[in-house]
Amino acid sequence: MRAIGILGGTFDPVHCGHVRLAIEVLEQAGLDEVRLMPAGAPRLRDPPRASGAERRAWLEAAVGGIAGLVVDPRELDGSGPTRTVETLESLRAEHPDDAIALVLGMDAFARLDEWHRHEALLELAHLVVARRPGADGPERPAVRALAAAHAITDARLLRAQPSGTIYLVEAPLLDISATDVRARIAAGRSIHCLVPDPVRRLIERSDVYKHGIR
Ligand code: ATP
Repeated sequence: MRAIGILGGTFDPVHCGHVRLAIEVLEQAGLDEVRLMPAGAPRLRDPPRASGAERRAWLEAAVGGIAGLVVDPRELDGSGPTRTVETLESLRAEHPDDAIALVLGMDAFARLDEWHRHEALLELAHLVVARRPGADGPERPAVRALAAAHAITDARLLRAQPSGTIYLVEAPLLDISATDVRARIAAGRSIHCLVPDPVRRLIERSDVYKHGIR
């Protein structure tokens, strides 16, 4: 049985916080691979500034040479899945017997009861929840109940079944956001060490964030 992690996001653009998160999850949860999966058209946010092709190319550049990190573009295809639960269904169809682990930050996990068909998520996948060391756990009773029912403390149990458990990874988060990276580019400031160097070179060749910010 392989263990596959999924880290979704807008990645507009991918930055070092994303890459470090993926590596922490890969190592701490003992996964075989973490797939960075750029979102097509997010329902709850403005459309990304960069195109799907650009975000995908930057992600490929970001993970190049890092063992265990790969890019999965299925949500960028107009006909592909857009909601998390549909993405997990499409992955599950390809990997019926493997462990699949959806990576979530504690902020997202703490509001899990608002998600479309959230009860189906744990039937399709494990959840790997990343939080800053010492940060609070979820507050809502419904989410606390889910955590109490499904939490495991031994990462090896992620391989004992294909889905259904919740594993906490304590990941120190770098203080970097895509919003801040875009603002720096628009202001003509440096993004050295905020995004991987190959990504910085590609972004600098493009005009995408140079005119105004969002
Ligand atoms: P924006 O600033 O545009 O909101 P973002 O930097 O938060 O973007 P997303 O593409 O929305 O980037 O993030 C994808 C995933 O990466 C989310 O689960 C998010 O919580 C996580 N993430 C974002 N920034 C960091 C960071 N600095 N460290 C660790 N995880 C991060």
